[in-house]
Amino acid sequence: MIIAASLLVVALAGGIVFLRGHRAAAVVQVPFSDLLKHLDDDAVAAVVVNGDALDFTLSSGATFRTIAPANYVTANAAFVPDLAKRHVRIDVQTLPEQGTFSYLALLMGLGFVGAIGFMMYRVTSGRIPALESKTREAGSEATTVTFADVAGVDEAKEEVKEIVDFLREPGRFEAIGGRIPKGVLLVGPPGTGKTLLARSIAGEAGVPFLFASGSDFVEMYAGVGASRIRKLFKEARRHPSCIIFIDELDAVGRSRGGNSLSHEEREQTLNQLLVEMDGFAQNEGIVVVAATNRADILDPALLRPGRFDRQVTVGAPDVKGREQILKIHARKVAVGVGVDLRQIARGTPGFSGAELANLVNEAALFAVRSGRQMVTDYDFDQARDKVLMGAERKSLTMSEHERITCAYHESGHAVVAALLPHADPLHKVTIIPRGRALGVTMQLPEGDRHTHTREFLEAQIAILMGGRIAEELFLRQMTSGAGNDIERATDIARRMVCEFGMSAALGPLAYRTPGNPWETDKGVGISEATALQVDHEIHELVMRGYETARQIIAKNRAAVRAMAEELLVVESLDAEAIKAVIAAAA
Ligand code: ADP
Ligand code: MG
Ligand code: ZN
Repeated sequence: MIIAASLLVVALAGGIVFLRGHRAAAVVQVPFSDLLKHLDDDAVAAVVVNGDALDFTLSSGATFRTIAPANYVTANAAFVPDLAKRHVRIDVQTLPEQGTFSYLALLMGLGFVGAIGFMMYRVTSGRIPALESKTREAGSEATTVTFADVAGVDEAKEEVKEIVDFLREPGRFEAIGGRIPKGVLLVGPPGTGKTLLARSIAGEAGVPFLFASGSDFVEMYAGVGASRIRKLFKEARRHPSCIIFIDELDAVGRSRGGNSLSHEEREQTLNQLLVEMDGFAQNEGIVVVAATNRADILDPALLRPGRFDRQVTVGAPDVKGREQILKIHARKVAVGVGVDLRQIARGTPGFSGAELANLVNEAALFAVRSGRQMVTDYDFDQARDKVLMGAERKSLTMSEHERITCAYHESGHAVVAALLPHADPLHKVTIIPRGRALGVTMQLPEGDRHTHTREFLEAQIAILMGGRIAEELFLRQMTSGAGNDIERATDIARRMVCEFGMSAALGPLAYRTPGNPWETDKGVGISEATALQVDHEIHELVMRGYETARQIIAKNRAAVRAMAEELLVVESLDAEAIKAVIAAAA
């Protein structure tokens, strides 16, 4: 009876999987701002979080994929609760970190019936159970992307040119006896063009491009990931030469170890990948390109000679690179004659290629919405604010008291930022709700920033404290609005102590703490006594920032009040207006 019932369930699950598998094949990638916009419109029914890749389904049933800014989901404490509040179904695809949950124990405890129940749960929560189904079967595609579509990563392009030459004329390399890497690892933050670069290698060489994502291989059921890897390479061998691209290699390639079921499965998958890579000959015409933003957590076996022995860094673009990337994407829209892309590149430090592409797209949308035929500087300005701070939510009604609270809170941040010498210049203060925030104080560095000084980080903590303090001093209240500020300040302090060696008492050591991105093999083990000291140092740093901010605000009450009152009238102040308000109050 139970067996019959479970067979039925399996058959049902298989059917559902089949349907879902087909739907998953046609996911369209859209800018991140689209997701935010749909969220604001309450049009999102479900979100599947997979690292920085978010698949979302609208109430209408349409499914899209978008890439969030780096660590957006983990860094924005309000994001997930906000989704929940909007009754959006949330599913996380990346498996939990080790040790949190032993699936093995669960399975044994609940037994067979429990396993069936679990499978049904997986089906209903949108995950595709493995069995014999495949999510996105890696099909080969011909790509038309070339090096001309990739900008700002000249060194990386230079490095992969050799592979293009090899793929074009494998025979020539063979004759000379040159060794071409089998595996190339593209390393860099999200949105810098790793996928694009991989596609362009295939496009330049005119060979098929086989796409797979590391997360596709990580399945609950042992052996499935490995069999998918086998299929992928089998498919590759059908072509005289081709590129296999594995996105998010870290999903399968994490350092081995641990004892949960998910680890065992991942290990099998990883081993299969290593076997396949060792299995084809140097001259077979297959080049495996993989991408990750976390090369440090990869299993060292992956990086050995004959595997991914070539690492290519795909970094965030500098100002010249940003200009070139803007040029590429501006070709697709009608840009007005007065628009200076160099100027826009200067005003977008820290933007990745994906963010710049998004910027151009948003600017075009603004122009269309305002009935213009050409994209103007004004549209780019609006688009930048939207990309930086999220879309305006004018529809959100705030009570008068909330508006006042917000005005003082933001003025607190802004005045501290304006008066601290090591802080980045202010770009804008606004109490128009944007994205998930009720108000925003936005700083923009003058040039590209690659490292931060201790003074800068301390100033950042003080600025984050400014909001809470202004509320305390002017309105005699504490609100939950400072929650995200506090979290970010604490995180900066933690990293200063545990990662950057900026605490005098603890010295220049890397301390392993829960928030650290490291796996178990890096950083000093931490004793109970040290842990106490770490906590103490973090507390000290945050409190010092708090005190700095409190003194600034207490000394500049007039400026904070004037700015808050101005904000209540005009809602947004730009850099010049902020300077004027502070100067007038001094
Ligand atoms: P990654 O794989 O590094 O996360 P993607 O290649 O997926 O980044 O980039 C997403 C999109 O952003 C690309 O399709 C392209 O439109 C744009 N983009 C990113 N980097 C660049 C770049 N260096 N040059 C031109 N466009 C870029
Ligand atoms: Mg990518
Ligand atoms: Zn704040």
